[in-house]
Amino acid sequence: MSIPERKIPVAISRCLLGDNVRYNGDHKHNRFCTSVLADYFEFVPTCPEVEIGMGVPRKPIRLVDLDGDIRALETDDASKDYTDALTEKGASFTQSHKQICGFIATPNSPSCGVFGVKLYLPNGNPINKTEGRFSAALRKANPLLPVEESGRLNDAGLRENFIMRVYTYQRWLALKEAGITPSAIINFHSRHKYLLMSHNYNAYKALGRMIADIGSSDIELIADEYIQTLMSAISAPPERGKHCNVLQHLMGYLKQNIDKQDKKELLNSIEDYRTGIVPLIVPIALLRHHFERSSDQHQYPLNQFYLAPYPHELGLRSHIH
Ligand code: SF4
Repeated sequence: MSIPERKIPVAISRCLLGDNVRYNGDHKHNRFCTSVLADYFEFVPTCPEVEIGMGVPRKPIRLVDLDGDIRALETDDASKDYTDALTEKGASFTQSHKQICGFIATPNSPSCGVFGVKLYLPNGNPINKTEGRFSAALRKANPLLPVEESGRLNDAGLRENFIMRVYTYQRWLALKEAGITPSAIINFHSRHKYLLMSHNYNAYKALGRMIADIGSSDIELIADEYIQTLMSAISAPPERGKHCNVLQHLMGYLKQNIDKQDKKELLNSIEDYRTGIVPLIVPIALLRHHFERSSDQHQYPLNQFYLAPYPHELGLRSHIH
């Protein structure tokens, strides 16, 4: 397996790396993160509760709804309120780690959890689900940042989508670092067209119009609007039908290069993917094979990040989901 020379910086809840930083001195080691993703991501660990001085071991906290205000209070002594410290930590972490391209969070934590953290009434009855205070502040400070919980990475579709978003965002940060120019954004858009189309056709059309008009407005404003729309459009895994639509579009580039038999084989592989018989990698590998056979004519489709949004060794499209 070839490992990328430059790993992508991604923040992670420290207990997922196996560090004993939980309130009870335990950890939440996640093997997928430490044995697979660690080859691709340069993890930036954070334990907000330890970093605000709560120590290990410590009394557990929970989220309490005080007349609409969500507070992180010690479970045994509600006079101990850590909300402001955790919120400030989330904002300052984002501010001091502008290079990070994603965040992998521990589920159910009143600090790090993102989806479905229990929210209680002051009398201890659970009433709802919400977001941990550190993660809420982090996401507010950078709404573009791809964020996922470790448990949800067990789902093949969510895992693929998160890693794809991390790589997409990393390419955007690299573009920003090199300097935002109309031609850089046009090139970025051109290479992400089919990836975007596979997620959201309306956003694909809207961003196409934005790019066509790029000379008429402030480039920084266009760049902000562009990346907000793109990251929001790709935030959820696409349905199989949308992938099939893109695969057929890409097949159109081969009209002059494949015979009847090749065409039938490609169409069959797309149909087999649509019906859940084969994973997405099958029609994609076939398409790549044909593009590469006449690569001088097919630089445009070969440059599409849809065909290779992240290192193929991750094998994220080899599952049927
Ligand atoms: S969930 Fe977050 S706050 Fe809790 S132990 Fe893990 S890193 Fe620390």
